[in-house]
Parts: sequence; C-alpha cells; structure tokens
Amino acid sequence: MSEAYTGGCACGAIRYSISSEPMVQADCQCRDCQRKSGTGHGSYLTFADKRHVTLEGKAACWDIVADSGNVKTRAFCPTCGTPVYLTFSAMPDFFTVHAASLDDPGRYRPQLVTYTVRGHEWDRLDPALPKFDRMPTM
Ligand SMILES: [Zn+2]
Ligand SMILES: [Zn+2]
Repeated sequence: MSEAYTGGCACGAIRYSISSEPMVQADCQCRDCQRKSGTGHGSYLTFADKRHVTLEGKAACWDIVADSGNVKTRAFCPTCGTPVYLTFSAMPDFFTVHAASLDDPGRYRPQLVTYTVRGHEWDRLDPALPKFDRMPTM
C-alpha cells in the first residue's frame, strides 16, 4: 500500500493513523451529514478493519440512529468540535474518517454519492460519480 492515512482534529488533541487502503470513499447528502458538515454533504473514507487504525486522544461521542435503523457513533473533538471519525454498531470492524480531517485531504477520491434524495440543488457534485437515492447495499 501507499503511506498511512494520517489526520486528526483542528486542535491536534485527536490523531489517527491508518495503515491500509480505504474500502470505499463516498460523499453523503443525508440530513445528518448536512447538519454535521454545515453544508450540503459529508465526505468520507471508510476502512474495513479497525485493527489497522491507531488512535490518540479522547473523542466525545454521539450516537444517532441512521435511516437504515443501525446506530452510528460520531466521534468529535470535545475541545475544537471537529468531527473526526465514525463507527457503526452493525459493522463493528469498519472505521470511517472525514475527508477534511486527513493531513492531506487531496488524497480523498470520491467514488459515489449516497442519499441524493436529500440533496440540494445548490450542492452540485461531480456529475461523473454514480449516485444513489439512499444507501446502496454493500
Ligand atoms: Zn481538537
Ligand atoms: Zn449521510
């Protein structure tokens, strides 16, 4: 693989390093991602195996029931408020980070868009990306 994916929050209290390649990289236009990002969508890299993740610092966590019915846990920095990562009760091995939390956000390569049913006309994403009304089954 290439070099580890490293990143963290704005103030530096939370840091991560992931020594594997992402399984999927996607933009999501659901309402939850809108609220958290402060704009039309969130951008995420999801890794398949938490054992490749090294975490430093203590995140504050908030659970939300997704439209799928599964609980997702949003981890953010209690000091600077940056959303950093997500975990999922139904997929405990997965580890998802926000693209903008990467030290080099330019490494983000979106492959698809989810929840376009919630998307806004002003939030235009790459027309070449495959789009899904809701969450595609993986
Ligand atoms: Zn912070
Ligand atoms: Zn979403």
